[in-house]
Amino acid sequence: MWMLCQTNDELKEFVMEAKKCTKKGKVADYIPSLGKANPEDLSIAIHYPNGNCVEAGDIEKKFTLQSISKVISLALVLMDRGTDYVFERVGMEPTGDPFNSIAKLETMAPAKPLNPMINAGALVVTHMIKGNSVEERFQRLLSFVQELVNDTNISFCEEVARSEFKTSNLNRALVYFLKQHNIIDEDVEPLIDLYTKQCAIEMNCYDLSKIGLVFAMDGVDPETGKRIMPIDIARICKTFMVTCGMYNASGEFAIKVGIPSKSGVSGGIMGAVPGRFGIGIFGPALDDKGNSIAGIKLLELLSQNYHLSMF
Ligand code: GLU
Repeated sequence: MWMLCQTNDELKEFVMEAKKCTKKGKVADYIPSLGKANPEDLSIAIHYPNGNCVEAGDIEKKFTLQSISKVISLALVLMDRGTDYVFERVGMEPTGDPFNSIAKLETMAPAKPLNPMINAGALVVTHMIKGNSVEERFQRLLSFVQELVNDTNISFCEEVARSEFKTSNLNRALVYFLKQHNIIDEDVEPLIDLYTKQCAIEMNCYDLSKIGLVFAMDGVDPETGKRIMPIDIARICKTFMVTCGMYNASGEFAIKVGIPSKSGVSGGIMGAVPGRFGIGIFGPALDDKGNSIAGIKLLELLSQNYHLSMF
């Protein structure tokens, strides 16, 4: 088996190379608070099952999960409700559309979202989180994230959540549409409140690489030996990461990188190299599909140099 970078210095060289393309990217600003990020940032942590972590860049810098949270809420909801219930309400197929598109909902019958990684599907998933109030549902999700990272200090960024809540017109439109088609049956505002808090869960690359590692190890935290989710659920999540994790660039990413990964518009990418290690990346300059431009470049370099593709 090819060994990945064993030292921080080795990894730093790849980061320096990938960093060159941050100039071609742009920080997301449709959520106003995200616009404050520094487009030149690029950091990575790689977490091995024996607890070793190789890192480069400012890995202490915190960022919000945004769409990366969709994999985590999916895992929780699959545990809460079971696969039949969940996949009656959200599909398993990739779309070639942008993450926030409403187009397919209108042309498909039934209007069930195609997959849980696009916003329409993720909103249905968040709707299915069990609990008696937004607070209780959010607390359950946050506790699950804390368990995945094995750190009870993980929280969310109120400023980013508020900023998205104020500007979520498109997501509100998706929820109204899904309510009309009886896929969602709760009020729009509480759901947007819960979803924006979910997306604003905040951590650094090191924490994110730990979550990637749990998925890579089929749902077990190798450091504690604790099973955090059933193997089947970890498998379903990783499959969605391959087919839909990198927005409508997932096909190209599967060919060029071949690592189950999920990105978010904050510039985060979580990678899970099956059976081997977890990856956390933060690089807020995005390409035109909404993926971290330097993060993708970095994964391409690592995958090519160390033969990391699972295919
Ligand atoms: N909170 C973001 C939204 O719903 C997440 C999008 C993303 O990271 O792709 O627009």
